[in-house]
Amino acid sequence: MSVSIAIDGPAGAGKSTIAKLVAEKLHIIYVDTGAMYRAMGLYFHRKGISPDDEAAICAACGEADVSIVYEGGAQQVLLNGENVTGCLRTEEAGKMASATSGYARVREKLVELQRKLAAAKSVVMDGRDIGTVVLPQADLKIYLTASVEARAKRRYLELTGKNVPCKIEEIARDIEQRDYQDMHRENSPLRKAEDALYLDSSEMSIREVADAIISALFEKLMSERTPDQNLEGALEEIIKKESDLR
Ligand code: C5P
Repeated sequence: MSVSIAIDGPAGAGKSTIAKLVAEKLHIIYVDTGAMYRAMGLYFHRKGISPDDEAAICAACGEADVSIVYEGGAQQVLLNGENVTGCLRTEEAGKMASATSGYARVREKLVELQRKLAAAKSVVMDGRDIGTVVLPQADLKIYLTASVEARAKRRYLELTGKNVPCKIEEIARDIEQRDYQDMHRENSPLRKAEDALYLDSSEMSIREVADAIISALFEKLMSERTPDQNLEGALEEIIKKESDLR
């Protein structure tokens, strides 16, 4: 049985942490599509291309080959053969990704790669347009969000925990700006798919959100199963492994 779960939402809502946990619990792979946009952003940054120069960005798309491999279950992003996974969480890669992800040429290239991955395996995929554009037939769609204050506070704690000096007001401003950019772009803006389950994680723990997603998946699969599908068996197996983990 193959399943696909699409998780969309704004930056800092906890998508990747939760998607990783859900993938682990279901023994399927996690596809971080933001990392692909970041890899493209890293390429443009390294080439010194301005994010406003659409012609140069589109031309450079043809030179940047992004591919995904899994090592011990963890996604690794290769940019023209180089493993750049460790370089993607930087400010430059994030800003460039956000500024260039609106270009149709960039999106077409990455959406094709994302669909190929989901066609080959069961996936939990997170991003901004997974339920609306990339996998409109996903078994379960989640729109995961949280208030700007909650997201800024989480990021602040994460950065100060790593001794990175920062101001919570600046983080909140940055989050609002990214939300605006992602929600108001012409190509594949961030929005909730009509049939997505809306979850606000502001007051929920990671485990609560992951449990809510897994319950919603079970419910959906049970409601859609055909009489010959022994879903109970498959689900019981997952629940048993899950309780072993607790
Ligand atoms: O999720 P993450 O912060 O890593 O994504 C970086 C940027 O990539 C986002 O700000 C967004 O502009 C873009 N993105 C996108 N579509 C996706 C995933 C990410 O446009 N499916």
